Amino acid sequence: MSRIAYVNGRYQPLRSAVINVEDRGFQFADGVYEVIAVVDGRCVDLAEHFDRLDCSLAALRIPQPMSRAAFSSVVEETARRNRVGDGLVYMQISRGVARRDHPFPPNAKPTLVVTARRHVLPKGREDFPGVRVVTARDIRWARCDIKSISLLPNVLAKQEALDKGAFDVWMVDGDGLVSEGSSSNAWIIDGRGTVVTRPTGPEILGGITRDRIISLAREDGVEVVERPFTVDDAKAAREAFLTSTTTFLRSVIRIDDAVIGSGEVGTLSQRLLDLYITYARKGIVCR
Ligand code: PMP
Repeated sequence: MSRIAYVNGRYQPLRSAVINVEDRGFQFADGVYEVIAVVDGRCVDLAEHFDRLDCSLAALRIPQPMSRAAFSSVVEETARRNRVGDGLVYMQISRGVARRDHPFPPNAKPTLVVTARRHVLPKGREDFPGVRVVTARDIRWARCDIKSISLLPNVLAKQEALDKGAFDVWMVDGDGLVSEGSSSNAWIIDGRGTVVTRPTGPEILGGITRDRIISLAREDGVEVVERPFTVDDAKAAREAFLTSTTTFLRSVIRIDDAVIGSGEVGTLSQRLLDLYITYARKGIVCR
């Protein structure tokens, strides 16, 4: 089946879809994006993704390409045309096309691209073996809360992890605090069973999965504290895990060469994963 992309108002075959070479997304990484999980044909936390997209657009002063209702229809329609049952929708908005020059062009119209693809989303426990992360210096900028398409440090970090035989990097800031993964949020569970993750702020991307796990955990009576933690805290933790739209929740069983807890997927991590899978499979209908 040939894939379909939505590009500036038109659904077209992905292989022939094109963007102008003077698009500012291409020239300057002057744009933002979102990735949304589709589970059983429905978008998970669509409203929350749109809220974050609004924040990213506002931070870069890129105008909304269309109303949220119209945008939601494009997202759903792109998923439908690509026959996505379980998968991912990707949407990207750049500032638009203009002669290459740094200042914001006065009359550029934002470029909107939406694609969707099938993706085997994790279903049950067997899809979630524990993973290893390695730590590396966080070399990103001071606005990591903006979901910008400028992802070079994240790409380098992920490749470094793979080169070292690990699943991901946990990036560490100048104070020795873990910021987050290359495309995921970082968590630990301390010796008292408290779930700990870094507070939102300019140092990390406020993950939608992160927010959802926090609410699901609290509703389940689990104590969650948003505070920064060090690499040493993480290595001494009872359990550790990471979260993202594409991976849901993955237990971290090794950090660098330190084995976390028993070296197996932790009980509380597993519980949180079960809660999240149940939530995602229930399917929160697109709003
Ligand atoms: N941090 C970074 C740097 C990311 O790229 C992502 C994935 N978009 C996340 C965290 C997790 O965010 P979400 O749960 O919304 O996918």
